[in-house]
Amino acid sequence: MENVTQDTNPDPVITILGCGVNGLSSGILLLEEGYKVKIWAKDLPPHTTSNIAAAVWYPYKVAPEAKVADWGERSYEIFCELASIPETGIRILPGVELFREPTPDPVWSSYVRNYRHAQPEELPAGYHDGYFFDSPVIDTGIYMGYLVNRFQQLGGEIIRREIGSLSEAFEESHLVVNCTGLGARSLLGDKEVYPIRGQIIRVSRTALKDFFVSADNYGTANYIIPRSNDCILGGTAEAGEWSLEPDAATAKKIWEVCSQLVPEVAQTQVLEHLVGLRPARKEVRLEAEVLPDAKVVIHNYGHGGAGVTISWGCAEQVLSLVKVFSPKELTLGQGKV
Ligand SMILES: Cc1cc2nc3c(=O)[nH]c(=O)nc-3n(C[C@H](O)[C@H](O)[C@H](O)COP(=O)(O)OP(=O)(O)OC[C@H]3O[C@@H](n4cnc5c(N)ncnc54)[C@H](O)[C@@H]3O)c2cc1C
Repeated sequence: MENVTQDTNPDPVITILGCGVNGLSSGILLLEEGYKVKIWAKDLPPHTTSNIAAAVWYPYKVAPEAKVADWGERSYEIFCELASIPETGIRILPGVELFREPTPDPVWSSYVRNYRHAQPEELPAGYHDGYFFDSPVIDTGIYMGYLVNRFQQLGGEIIRREIGSLSEAFEESHLVVNCTGLGARSLLGDKEVYPIRGQIIRVSRTALKDFFVSADNYGTANYIIPRSNDCILGGTAEAGEWSLEPDAATAKKIWEVCSQLVPEVAQTQVLEHLVGLRPARKEVRLEAEVLPDAKVVIHNYGHGGAGVTISWGCAEQVLSLVKVFSPKELTLGQGKV
């Protein structure tokens, strides 16, 4: 702590880089704790990767497993609470994940609601295992707007601004929280961050009450996520692919597999084709870094295919780290370490 710059400015600001689900969730918890917070972001909702996620609570393409299970558990609890507020766009839906092979229970099976293995007669042809569970479906088209409103109502400021270097981010702040997702690759030169391209189809609303995830069709996962106003059909998971252009042949394949899995899908109308780049990393980077000039940046990026799923758990850890490096009694000018 001795080498860390402690700002005794009576009204210091924490700058969060990034206005996706992780920047906003972190910002909300910091504001609720009494910190003054602003967000600087290159792209704002609805133009973030977070807006493209369906999103279903489901740990996918993210590591490390034990931490993800903990972050996921806290987020699952909070999403279940938020589901009672209609403006959040969250509903708890029953669903099933299907497998071609017998599959062991995931670590999170102990805490999700109504978890059970499928009986053989409940499995579609070609599938040999599956588990049912209830999961929050977070309609990001609604939820991201809810997060922005909550952040702003707490006094948070959101500014569109692309940052070229971390030092620039400290211009107006004593502490920075880095939630730049895939942007961390160029911002920090972190080559461990890479895209996992996801192409999906947004179709018209269906009467479906359950979500479906099916592992391992042509090397990827297919899913059908019914939402209040539409339904999401997915999707691809192409590591290292950067193209944001929807591919017609891929869309056709997604449509075919999803309609085969759930025939109701064939009755829907295509509303739009979407592509997003999941910000993957061998492990989520969630840690404090003390820079050579003794300034502190808290990193929270690399959430892969589960950035919504683990967002609240990660935001709580960001808050704990901020409290270590910027305790309120110090930032309010009452002392020095
Ligand atoms: C097709 C698809 C489906 C998905 N489905 C799900 C799902 O069902 N469940 C789930 O949990 N997850 C899902 N995901 C993954 C999820 O979308 C991501 O993990 C999540 O959005 C990451 O959030 P984030 O806030 O870290 O990053 P982002 O949402 O990418 O936000 C990053 C922010 O940083 C800003 N930024 C970047 N660089 C800079 C810079 N230099 N200066 C200033 N600002 C910068 C950006 O403009 C943006 O505001 C899906 C993703 C895709 C593509």
